[in-house]
Amino acid sequence: MKYVDEFRAGDLAQGLAAAIAREADPSHTYNVMEFCGGHTHAIFRYGVQDLMPANLRFVHGPGCPVCVLPIGRVDNALELAGDPRVTLCTYGDMMRVPATGRRSLLKAKAEGADVRMIYSTQDALRIAVENPDREVVLFAIGFETTTPPTAVVLKQAAAAGLKNFSVFCNHVLTPAAITHILESPEVREIGTVAIDGFLGPSHVSSVIGSQPYEFFAQEYQRPVVIAGFEPLDVMQATLMIIRQLNDGRHEVENQYARVVTREGNRKAQALVAEVFELRSSFEWRGLGLVPYSALRIRPQFAAFDAELRFGVETKPARDAKSCECPSILRGAKKPTDCKLFGTVCAPESPIGSCMVSSEGACAAYWTYGRFRQQTRPAARSTEAAA
Ligand code: SF4
Repeated sequence: MKYVDEFRAGDLAQGLAAAIAREADPSHTYNVMEFCGGHTHAIFRYGVQDLMPANLRFVHGPGCPVCVLPIGRVDNALELAGDPRVTLCTYGDMMRVPATGRRSLLKAKAEGADVRMIYSTQDALRIAVENPDREVVLFAIGFETTTPPTAVVLKQAAAAGLKNFSVFCNHVLTPAAITHILESPEVREIGTVAIDGFLGPSHVSSVIGSQPYEFFAQEYQRPVVIAGFEPLDVMQATLMIIRQLNDGRHEVENQYARVVTREGNRKAQALVAEVFELRSSFEWRGLGLVPYSALRIRPQFAAFDAELRFGVETKPARDAKSCECPSILRGAKKPTDCKLFGTVCAPESPIGSCMVSSEGACAAYWTYGRFRQQTRPAARSTEAAA
């Protein structure tokens, strides 16, 4: 298949749905966690869940970088924006994320702070070059996909000897988070979150490759299938997970072979390793402190580290009362379990980060699934589906 429409073809989707219904053992349940918010949106936008048999459930994971940033770090960004010397640059979604007291960067901007919405890290660098009398800070967030462009601007700033540019680094690492989810009491002991297999990240894996997932596929005996973001990708990867589970296998497989290799993008990995090093611990919203799950700027680039330049100190901060984002990000609850969903919390007036981000689970439910009945269609029989 060459064009995007082919990855959304209805007849192929029906064929895959029939194969899934045929191969899903009715005496088992299949709980498949999709890590990426992009998968969550594909599932809701194209009605993939409705094409699944009743014993297959998608569990939404923490795969949205905007959603997983803890409130304390958003508070830090607000403090930086409140410094009259600072121009704070960030992406559109981050501007609307509620911080402590429901403040946001958008509100700070309305109150006079110099907050600029950017489309790429290069925009922030350009603003720094054009405004030498301002301290330009890039509020950098994201998984492994967005880390290389941040590394590039740090190297460019160093090469140009820029004195007024720095990065507030909040880049996080996917494999550590998946491991943490599997180690969590909800999965290990309480059993409130059943996860039988994972749809592995697609864009992230294009950078880091499929190899980093091999350890925990073996250690935790859960299949991982790297999946693309189109609906047929998700369905084909789901079928691959079902086959592994039926066979008693737990391997890393790669459905997204048109983009992802086992080794990933070595050039990007080398660039990131040159500029960043591991943090021993970092807080994720919903997951708490996760060991070795984030990056900080290496000492060689310390002059461009906003945390050092401005003495950033992250304090514990609480999520908004009644907001269920932490449970949703662990896969322990669905957006519709939150009593604020669709009442006071909607994309125009978000209470939590999961409703803000275009990749957030609450936004996906609202945009594509809000009016759907919560009851699922009965399981398809093998004969009917064949
Ligand atoms: S609906 Fe709103 S308040 Fe509830 S969990 Fe989602 S983002 Fe948080």
